[in-house]
Amino acid sequence: MQGITLALSKGRIFEETLPLLAAAGIVPTDDPETSRKLIIDTNRPDVRLVIVRASDTPTYVQYGAADLGIAGKDVLLEHGGGGLYQPLDLKIARCRLSVATPAGFDYEQAVRRGARLKVATKYLHTAREHFAAKGVHVDLIKLYGSMELAPLVGLADAIVDLVSSGGTLRANNLVEVEHIMDISSRLVINQAALKVKHGLLMPILEAFEGAVQ
Ligand code: ATP
Ligand code: MG
Repeated sequence: MQGITLALSKGRIFEETLPLLAAAGIVPTDDPETSRKLIIDTNRPDVRLVIVRASDTPTYVQYGAADLGIAGKDVLLEHGGGGLYQPLDLKIARCRLSVATPAGFDYEQAVRRGARLKVATKYLHTAREHFAAKGVHVDLIKLYGSMELAPLVGLADAIVDLVSSGGTLRANNLVEVEHIMDISSRLVINQAALKVKHGLLMPILEAFEGAVQ
């Protein structure tokens, strides 16, 4: 069967993609929050969804295990984007990538002093580029989650993490001291699939385009 496979992560990307799928006439037949299925059918026999970890989406699409997917700019920057066509900013899952420190830590001074700053993050690549462009020396510490804890227990001076409401930072007595970039999710398409399955993929791309506010 010449069908298409769309990679999505559950949670906010899945939820915010549902209206876009609906605009393309695609309705999933299961909810990944309640179903344990990793492959979810849709009302269309030629379209299926695969449910992956958010940071794995570009990998599935890069290797063609999924023809297209939806991934955050944060994830795409870390992945590098090889083999991926990125035609559309879907403007969903919006947040920002920021530097945060404990309240009272003099970030400007620490950066000016030229001392090495210890920074904990899941976003090694993007953080490295950001501080290199500013000429700030950093020791980066790779974490996989709960970055907010690191400065509270002396693992790092600062973190680079996603912020939306700022509630988690506030709850942990951290303050956002630098905005690195705005983040939203993009449609990614396997470059070979775009050629071979052009007829199936283009209507979806166009429907998504029309549905993005
Ligand atoms: P996991 O929770 O499995 O460790 P994750 O945190 O990357 O992975 P999600 O929390 O579902 O997975 O985030 C998916 C994407 O949504 C992120 O890559 C980012 O682009 C965006 N995102 C993350 N946190 C927020 C937020 N608080 N508000 C809006 N968008 C966010
Ligand atoms: Mg998360």
